[in-house]
Amino acid sequence: MSAPQHDLDIALAAPPAQQPPQSPDDAAPRASAGASPETPQSVTVAGGGLLGMVLALRLAQTGHAVTLLEGAPRGGGLAGEQSIGGLDWDRFYHVVLLSDGRTRALLDELGLADRLQWGTTRTGFYTDGAMHSMSDTLEFLRFPPLSLLDKLRLGGTIFAASRIRDHRRLERISAIDWLRRWSGPRVLEKIWMPLLRSKLGDNAPLASAAFIWAIIARMYAARRAGLKRELFGWIDGGYAIVIDALQRRLDAAGVRTLHDARIVSIAGEASGTVATLADGRRIEAERLVSTLPVPVFASVCAGLRAEGRARAEAVVTQGIVCVSLLIEQPLSPYYVTNVTDRWVPFTGVIEMTALVPPARFGGRSLVYLPIYLPQDAPQWAQDDATILEPCIAALERMHPHFRREQVIDAKVARARHVLAVSTIDYTERAMPGLATGVPNVFQLNSAQIAQGTLNVDETLGVVEQRLAELRRAMQAGSKVAR
Ligand SMILES: Cc1cc2nc3c(=O)[nH]c(=O)nc-3n(C[C@H](O)[C@H](O)[C@H](O)COP(=O)(O)OP(=O)(O)OC[C@H]3O[C@@H](n4cnc5c(N)ncnc54)[C@H](O)[C@@H]3O)c2cc1C
Repeated sequence: MSAPQHDLDIALAAPPAQQPPQSPDDAAPRASAGASPETPQSVTVAGGGLLGMVLALRLAQTGHAVTLLEGAPRGGGLAGEQSIGGLDWDRFYHVVLLSDGRTRALLDELGLADRLQWGTTRTGFYTDGAMHSMSDTLEFLRFPPLSLLDKLRLGGTIFAASRIRDHRRLERISAIDWLRRWSGPRVLEKIWMPLLRSKLGDNAPLASAAFIWAIIARMYAARRAGLKRELFGWIDGGYAIVIDALQRRLDAAGVRTLHDARIVSIAGEASGTVATLADGRRIEAERLVSTLPVPVFASVCAGLRAEGRARAEAVVTQGIVCVSLLIEQPLSPYYVTNVTDRWVPFTGVIEMTALVPPARFGGRSLVYLPIYLPQDAPQWAQDDATILEPCIAALERMHPHFRREQVIDAKVARARHVLAVSTIDYTERAMPGLATGVPNVFQLNSAQIAQGTLNVDETLGVVEQRLAELRRAMQAGSKVAR
């Protein structure tokens, strides 16, 4: 089984899917439907990633006067684009799963449903200096680094996790302990540890078993019933076309969007809120909703009280440095190649053109090399050349037919806060609430994704599931501060 996206630069063969995929019709209705009348308010939405953009749209659709503040020159955040060799495409790789009902509903709403294309992919595994295909159950059974017993235990672990409905009890045990118990030490060492490290780097020992559970649940949801290979969706034009269409909707709905509007301070009082920008502008509103990453919010919101600050500090975020290469010819037939050898500086290879027909990219191949990092990693201080050189050298060693001369263009993208690590007792100890303790200041962000991994669909789910509660809290105003 192959895990499809950034949350899953993990790929394993596994038993067939248990859950039928959702259709767009499965998406819950928007929270605006049937809500009681509410007083229109002026609202600042801080952060113009997908979550902030969709939230701003929903609030404007329910009559509020919304100002959206985004620090970058364009909206979209992690789903934003870059230009590489004249090709405009996502700076971080994205796929859509059949089970991503909310994402598909959003594409429908934006008139982009026909831009969603589907394809099957293969998965590779680079381990002990050799490349293995691990795209179906047969290949998994042949996978040399594991004995038959190991494979049974691995399959059993995945199956057991897929049967668990209440992930909360898994939050009490570390992923490593849980995996050792179910899979045994060899599978832990050969498969799970490299995969955990690939996602969480040095934060891997901090993850609870709920993290693995969430990944496995999404892997299962990714599989079309009866199909032994994944069906992945890609958006023709990349997420940039979604962001552009969303921006047009925001403009039409009367949302005032400010780009290059980096927030340096957020303050809230009973009388209203103020967001101060780096250029000194002050944006006042009755309410403010932050969609900023938790550590950024905590750093700009000086009025956060002790409990809110303690919870924010308990959130451990994971970052990414991601190399993109546009190369003359395909590297491999695999969309995801999981890399378990520790000398390789990246932890996976995502070859977009193993999914998107290379003709779409003028016959060239687009490859991403993700390096997931904790906050204190030395790579944050390194320049592009220092990041690139060892990555290209490693790719030459892994793929003897690949030479650096084939690289047409290379880019390095960095995001300091990509996801909140599912630490032990995360929901109890760290997960931020809607109320911040600062009057009239609320937060909605991906750190509130309780039962899933970071992806666009879960991000949209945060808005969908909490919008009604947010609107009620906004109406109640400063009384909700806890
Ligand atoms: C490598 C990678 C691969 C991925 N692959 C997939 C995939 O295959 N499928 C999938 O569905 N999802 C994928 N995702 C996840 C998806 O991109 C995210 O779920 C989604 O984009 C998160 O949106 P967000 O608005 O919550 O966060 P962000 O995009 O982080 O938005 C936060 C916004 O706040 C802004 N901001 C920060 N500080 C300030 C400040 N001080 N002032 C003003 N603005 C500020 C930022 O610029 C940003 O725009 C991937 C993510 C990554 C990193």
